[in-house]
Amino acid sequence: MTIDVQALAQHDLSDDCPVCRAQDVVTMALVPAAAAWELANELPRFSVALHGAAHLLGVMLEEGVARADIESVLAELLDDIEAGISEDAMMGGPPQGSA
Ligand SMILES: [Zn+2]
Repeated sequence: MTIDVQALAQHDLSDDCPVCRAQDVVTMALVPAAAAWELANELPRFSVALHGAAHLLGVMLEEGVARADIESVLAELLDDIEAGISEDAMMGGPPQGSA
């Protein structure tokens, strides 16, 4: 079985786009869960987030997905996220540390 990682990252522009739904699950469930695990286990901030992300991708490696494919689609996703962050900042979000 070949897994098309690139296809996993393509929005299909439908109302129930699987990419948007996956992102919602991550935002609502995984991000706060990782932060809670870090706090509860007195681990450095983002340690569970970083290793959680790496190990989830490691499972894909174990399943035979090529590392180069994972790295290239991950770079695209991070580009999108970064673009979203600067968009949010331009929409008048409070600058960090302005409180
Ligand atoms: Zn989408």
